[in-house]
Amino acid sequence: MEYFLTEEQLEIKRLARRIAENHVIPQRAELDKNAEFPHAIMKEIAEAGLPAIYIPEEYDGIGAGLLELCLATEELSRACGGVGVTYAASSLGSFPIIIGGSHEQKARFLPPIASGEHYAAFCLTEAGAGSDAGNISTNARKVGNEYVINGTKQWITNGCEAHTYTVFAKTDKARGARGISAFVVEKGTPGLSFGKKEDKLGIRCSATYEVVFEDCVVPAENLLGREGAGFSIAMRTFDKSRPGIGAQSIGIAQGAYEAALNYAYTRQQFGQSILNFQAVSFMLADMAIQIEAARALTYQVARMVDAGIKNYGKESAMCKVFPSDVAMRVTTDAIQIMGGYGYMKDYPAEKYFRDAKITQIYEGTNQIQRQIIASSLIREMASGQRG
Ligand SMILES: Cc1cc2nc3c(=O)[nH]c(=O)nc-3n(C[C@H](O)[C@H](O)[C@H](O)COP(=O)(O)OP(=O)(O)OC[C@H]3O[C@@H](n4cnc5c(N)ncnc54)[C@H](O)[C@@H]3O)c2cc1C
Repeated sequence: MEYFLTEEQLEIKRLARRIAENHVIPQRAELDKNAEFPHAIMKEIAEAGLPAIYIPEEYDGIGAGLLELCLATEELSRACGGVGVTYAASSLGSFPIIIGGSHEQKARFLPPIASGEHYAAFCLTEAGAGSDAGNISTNARKVGNEYVINGTKQWITNGCEAHTYTVFAKTDKARGARGISAFVVEKGTPGLSFGKKEDKLGIRCSATYEVVFEDCVVPAENLLGREGAGFSIAMRTFDKSRPGIGAQSIGIAQGAYEAALNYAYTRQQFGQSILNFQAVSFMLADMAIQIEAARALTYQVARMVDAGIKNYGKESAMCKVFPSDVAMRVTTDAIQIMGGYGYMKDYPAEKYFRDAKITQIYEGTNQIQRQIIASSLIREMASGQRG
């Protein structure tokens, strides 16, 4: 479909696709097998300038928007969901600084992320607080002009590999979610360490770690915004980052669809290409329809955000739910079309299938997204803003 992308947007797509084809596809199976962080690929991504896309120009970024970030994420994920999320998680870790940080904090933390020298990570989830993120128990106690952070974050993407951690901790337990504050903690800060590296079903080359804070002391100037603003910063971050999960999902689905289409074209059974069987070609037609619908939704929401629309929580949730459900269906069907070969590690379909599952879970499960959308519909009904 024609999305009327600008020359700059097409160039970003071309750059990301070139890295995906030349560097990611040849290495993805090995990285997946060894659960190995894609250091060399991230270096290529940095040299191409892709980490700078969403960072404002005054902090050494390109100052482009969410659509551009989605285009790069989609192309990388078309080759490997693990590389796609490794790239995108740095934006998730940076958005709290962009949303809640002062000029001084942005000037200090964003330029090395824009250059790709530093990765960022977003630290909210804990063992006892996943969907119920307002219920975290990590705390930050103010002592003089410093905060002392204690607690353990779980399943942090880019954990250990990142330099810049945006961390959510309670500064006032009595106030619940309104007592959560956001901080930047840099790697090397005494009291910050990394626990278990997770062994995962999919996106295996991405690093997922426990991040541990034991009397970790950060200067008060690392507080983002004011005390108590952390939960709002986290939610606004998710509103901005969820189209990126849409893009990751579309990329994974597209890769699986292309693998299945190529296979169906060449696979001969009963003396002919299996693509001649309507049962197979209609599955591919349905896959193509769903991917295009997911892409159109995601690009349109990204454009809405880039145009400066203020409230887009509902739409952002939609373009996380729909594309991730599409990715799961399409990758399942890709294996079906490829039969037994699709089930084998010699072909990429099984990896796309494993990589797709996480898109329905992280940055808020799809049940939670449906809850966000439903609450929004109810609010709109109550306030008379229907349709
Ligand atoms: C590979 C990976 C990477 C991740 N990366 C990060 C990261 O970088 N930073 C970070 O902070 N977190 C990260 N996460 C955490 C992720 O965001 C959480 O896993 C997710 O929000 C869900 O939390 P949970 O797993 O504890 O599930 P739970 O909240 O325990 O949910 C379990 C089930 O119950 C359902 N459920 C829960 N509450 C409700 C409800 N109110 N209504 C209906 N259904 C409900 C859920 O939808 C789900 O199906 C990552 C997770 C994984 C697996």
